[in-house]
Amino acid sequence: MTALLELGHVETYYGDSHILFDLSLEVGTGEVVCLLGRNGAGKTTTVRSIIGLTPPRAGRITFRGHDLVGLPPFRIARLGIGYVPENRRIFPNLSVAENLEVARKAGGNGATPWTEGRVWELFPHLRDLRHRPAGRLSGGEQQMLTIARTLMGSPELLLLDEPSEGLAPLVVQMLREQLTRLKASGLTIVLAEQNVHFVSDLGDRVYILENGAVRYHGPMADFLADAEIRRAYLAV
Ligand code: ATP
Repeated sequence: MTALLELGHVETYYGDSHILFDLSLEVGTGEVVCLLGRNGAGKTTTVRSIIGLTPPRAGRITFRGHDLVGLPPFRIARLGIGYVPENRRIFPNLSVAENLEVARKAGGNGATPWTEGRVWELFPHLRDLRHRPAGRLSGGEQQMLTIARTLMGSPELLLLDEPSEGLAPLVVQMLREQLTRLKASGLTIVLAEQNVHFVSDLGDRVYILENGAVRYHGPMADFLADAEIRRAYLAV
């Protein structure tokens, strides 16, 4: 496996609070890697460390061999990392189509693989709503639009922070199908989630975090077969 993203011995703080401890993980090209853990385990902080919003105080983070630590988030994004935060980011007064248009950017290699047409194929429901102000979409539709906007930035790696949170079961199922199609298109994905059911068919490998440290990592199939691990760290 060629590692696209690598974290080595990362230590991250919020002010004086030490949050991530000696955290190492790697993500291969085309993989879907899931970060699992209870509330407060450190999933969001891991994602924020990668994208540079809360850079680590020690340790190494590399993407395609580029050292990310110390770069501002916009530079990290430009290297080809798309970030979908927990709180959905849209422009409420712009229409769905305008939200996509303003997000269009070439990727690190100058390519623009995501066109509006390709986004509509992945999210047909958004096409039907393309003239609607984004502020009038439901939570699930806004989540899809946030992902669609991020894709318009031509990422090679997508960081998704708890995308299923707060969504109705039917919408969660729809989102899972869409992410499955994204995976099939070859996109590399890091998925921070609490909902094991949401990631079980989607993820290739799992890292379980607790108190800011990796407690377990392995292939998704091994994790799913290990009821003890799930009970110990996830209460499922
Ligand atoms: P959640 O599902 O709640 O987002 P998480 O696994 O993503 O959980 P983090 O948000 O990374 O967890 O939080 C890890 C720890 O860092 C928690 O103990 C949390 O209280 C703490 N923390 C998060 N944000 C801050 C902050 N801005 N300042 C201080 N501590 C913080």
